[in-house]
Amino acid sequence: MAGGRERLGEFELISRLLAPLAKDEPGALGLLDDGAVLASSSDSDLVLTKDLMICGVHFLPDDPADLVARKLLRVNLSDLAAMGATPRGYLLGLCLAPDTEDEWVARFADGLIEDQGSFGVHMLGGDTTAGPGPVTLSLTAIGTVPKGHVLRRKGARPGDRIFVTGTIGDGALGLLALRGQVTDPTGVLADRYRLPQPRVSVGAALLGRATACLDVSDGLLADLGHLCDVSGVGARIEAAALPLSDAARHALANAPELLETVLTGGDDYELLFTAPPERTEEVVAVAAAKGVPVTAIGDVTSGSGVTVQGGNGEVLGFARSGYRHR
Ligand SMILES: [Mg+2]
Repeated sequence: MAGGRERLGEFELISRLLAPLAKDEPGALGLLDDGAVLASSSDSDLVLTKDLMICGVHFLPDDPADLVARKLLRVNLSDLAAMGATPRGYLLGLCLAPDTEDEWVARFADGLIEDQGSFGVHMLGGDTTAGPGPVTLSLTAIGTVPKGHVLRRKGARPGDRIFVTGTIGDGALGLLALRGQVTDPTGVLADRYRLPQPRVSVGAALLGRATACLDVSDGLLADLGHLCDVSGVGARIEAAALPLSDAARHALANAPELLETVLTGGDDYELLFTAPPERTEEVVAVAAAKGVPVTAIGDVTSGSGVTVQGGNGEVLGFARSGYRHR
């Protein structure tokens, strides 16, 4: 390990803090070899996804390390869910800063251990090093789907209904609450921002039922726009149909202009998917069986673009549609 860290050496750090993350995964080979080994199967496809998180950009230096770790894992699991994949394992990249305490890494590993139990995944391997800072985290998640059945953003057809899991807007309102710009007496909104709930079991249950799917990370309007663009369709959603938490409803009652934040703010990590209208009861039922509500919010149309209708049928306009990546 390079750099100025006079703490646990790389090998000690791996053996003490990171190896426990891989101990129940035979394919990780105890982290003693140069790579992990996964059995391949002729009846499934692998789905791979990666997210990066940088201290000061995606999380703050004093955010609890266990929550940072769980969010890093969960945003990746949400991407797997969007493709209908069942998580198989993950690879971790950890670039520590000169002032990163071993205690921070230990708490980070504790967070991963907790979520590994919740989601039935294990670490397969990875790499750890020290750089000039800031702390930079990378996680590659690997999942499986039955061969040829992966859920894609492409596939929505005019006439399909548009559905969303859970509630929309809590993550974006939670970020405003953490900045003191929205009241959040119960802390529910801030919790939703800090710790997304990836809809892993629902994603797998949508295989063969949904025509297109993605997870809402950039904002409902932006992500629905992505789905429409690759499917070659348009969409019409009804503002009144949006599923809102009690906390979001309360925030909106005090400041109706926050509807724009709900629709464009991002960080929801809910699944947005389309299915033929005759499958409405079925998709609601399979999600309910996993304990997750599903709400129909509109319809796929021919043409292009996303339209939001207000309570009187009027078309609502918004200055921005969602988070833009560089
Ligand atoms: Mg995604």
